[in-house]
Amino acid sequence: MSLITSIQKYSIHDGDGIRTTVFFKGCLLKCLWCHNPETQCFKPELLCDRERCAGCGSCAAVCPQKAVKVQEGKMVTDQKLCNGCGTCVDYCNLNLREVAGKEYTISELVRELKKDEMFYEESGGGVTLSGGEVMMADMDYVVELAKRLDKMGISVTVDTCGQAPSENFERLLPYVDTFLYDIKTMDNDVHKKYMGMGNEQILKNLEYISSKGARIYIRIPVVREVNGSIEDMGAIIDYLKEKQIRVANVNLLPYHNTGSGKYEKLGLTYKGTDLHAPSNDEMEQFVTLFKESGFHNVKIGG
Ligand code: SF4
Ligand code: SF4
Repeated sequence: MSLITSIQKYSIHDGDGIRTTVFFKGCLLKCLWCHNPETQCFKPELLCDRERCAGCGSCAAVCPQKAVKVQEGKMVTDQKLCNGCGTCVDYCNLNLREVAGKEYTISELVRELKKDEMFYEESGGGVTLSGGEVMMADMDYVVELAKRLDKMGISVTVDTCGQAPSENFERLLPYVDTFLYDIKTMDNDVHKKYMGMGNEQILKNLEYISSKGARIYIRIPVVREVNGSIEDMGAIIDYLKEKQIRVANVNLLPYHNTGSGKYEKLGLTYKGTDLHAPSNDEMEQFVTLFKESGFHNVKIGG
């Protein structure tokens, strides 16, 4: 069984056509700008909107962990005590509390995903397994899910940061049409600084799936402080060429901070405030650089 934080329908930026994207919970990287911080931790987590809290205390009264207190008219949840049990959620009349991380049986999930089969067929879309990091989820579960979708003729795309054991890729590979594979930077020290870990395993897995003939869309979140120079992009291009990675598409994704509001709801601090997106001109220069280097399917955005 795996934890899923959300199932997003009618996605048009998560691979080809119209797709339903499943967000699995848990990821080993800790990218400073992560848009989905509720998917990082492998356990269920409570999100609560403290700003709008009326301080009624209902959540505190029912919490079996005694994780909630009301202070100065607003509730405070101690995230260290909270185990994400969800008991308090239905007791908040303002609907300010929710738990990220729900279990689905494979049959339940397949039933849900099958509902949009018509859209997949008409648009050349399918299902995208994302996260968090789907390659770090329960692989028996993920492989069986992908196998069933594949058997029904539903395309499976995997959106991955690549930080997972190679055997997980080996197991899932036969059922995946396309990998959306993130590369952030070739500079290992910069990778450690902004992602919390080096890039060795990520590059190893990319080389592995490429050697096995996978269809790969390289996705580069472009952040001025991380990889925002011609030299940084040039290093990624050199790597892709040197290793002869089978690149079908390159997506350059300019930094944005739309997920920053979720941090406070999780009791976390957003650490990406000093990061910036490159200018439009710089993004265009990166596109040109890729094209001049022989990568023809390059675009800004997903
Ligand atoms: S999710 Fe459970 S443990 Fe956490 S605050 Fe609510 S009732 Fe308490
Ligand atoms: S139940 Fe809702 S409104 Fe009442 S204290 Fe808890 S979060 Fe605030």
